[in-house]
Amino acid sequence: MISRSDCLARDAADTLAPLREQFDLPAGVIYLDGNSLGARPKAALTRATAVIAKEWGKDLITSWNSAGWFEMPKRLGDRLAPLLGAHDGEVVVTDTTSINLFKALAAALHDQAHTGRKIIVTERSNFPTDIYMAQGLTSWLERGYEVRLVDSPQQLPDAIGADTAVVMLTHVNYRTGYQHDMAAISALAHQHGALIVWDLAHSAGAVPLDLHADGADYAVGCTYKYLNGGPGAPAFIWVPKRRQDTFSHPLSGWWGHANPFAMAPDFAPCAGIGRALCGTQPITSLAMVECGLDVFAQTGMAAIRAKSLALTDLFIALVEQRCASHPLGLVTPREHARRGSQVSFTHPHGYAVMQALIARGVIGDYREPEIMRFGFTPLYTSFADVWDAVEILKQILDDKAYDTAAARGTVT
Ligand SMILES: *Cc1c(COP(=O)(O)O)cnc(C)c1O
Repeated sequence: MISRSDCLARDAADTLAPLREQFDLPAGVIYLDGNSLGARPKAALTRATAVIAKEWGKDLITSWNSAGWFEMPKRLGDRLAPLLGAHDGEVVVTDTTSINLFKALAAALHDQAHTGRKIIVTERSNFPTDIYMAQGLTSWLERGYEVRLVDSPQQLPDAIGADTAVVMLTHVNYRTGYQHDMAAISALAHQHGALIVWDLAHSAGAVPLDLHADGADYAVGCTYKYLNGGPGAPAFIWVPKRRQDTFSHPLSGWWGHANPFAMAPDFAPCAGIGRALCGTQPITSLAMVECGLDVFAQTGMAAIRAKSLALTDLFIALVEQRCASHPLGLVTPREHARRGSQVSFTHPHGYAVMQALIARGVIGDYREPEIMRFGFTPLYTSFADVWDAVEILKQILDDKAYDTAAARGTVT
């Protein structure tokens, strides 16, 4: 049996533990939702003040150059690249995940135009916006373009074929925490002549990534989850060097132009990753992304992954030990290679139980159907947090201290 003092001993031995001090975490809260909105690096407040008071307030328009505003999407992309297994000049931090996915899908369909392939294969359980962006693009294109949805990863080999232009998958599923085998599925797509677009929303900053070695063609992802970039912080897009010269998407704004200040009436894409940019970026929000990346620069993804697996293993073990008499169902794979950095359990009153947890300071979230989702962020989650969260869950379940009446019919 694992005890609380075992957890405290693990915290004392944890080399990542000191990084927790760099985050602002409210007292009395166990935050297990960093997979939805990462906690705030303390430095973000100072940085925001500098951007707003000095760069904007005092230096005004000169900051586009003097404070490096123009270059920020590329400079931050280069800082993010090592976490993705990407190279310099291959990533920009810009726009939203939805918009970047649209660009990547459009570019991939453009790459495939000469082949006559018109199908985008993805999973029905993908995050809805990913499916919507694919459907929006294909229905707007018409001419036989379509989205094909599969019901499980096991169906992918049958669903990908000679008609498939693009396979678009989210590497770690937002609901279940299931992690695809990126190398195997990229190879499967290529074997059938399809391109592969990976969404790294629940992977970047959570699991080690090696986009080049694993054969990805394009990738996009989010900075406000595990990367702690702030609410609605700009997302990222990765276009490998070998695909940049032909990378073409319809959101061809002036920031992607070869000579934006020539104010020419015709679009001519710039060389390099800059052509993935569209228009003027939200600079105050973009600047916050750097504060999250500054914390990652002090450690590495191997250490983060080791602690992530230790935290999720511990959570699963403690829930199964201490809440064994309750109807909880583990949804997340036990196999390490198939698991992201979250753990999901079903409970028939999942929504009400999660509301009770939140009321007692354990912040996770709920996703239909019946799923309670707990995110583990090694930069600031401790082993004692895991113990305490499970203890509170056990009390709520033992006491039936959740209000199913209040929960009925309310889904957020
Ligand atoms: C969080 C998430 C998004 C969010 O997209 P936005 O454009 O930022 O709203 C998209 N896709 C996946 C898979 C996500 O997990």
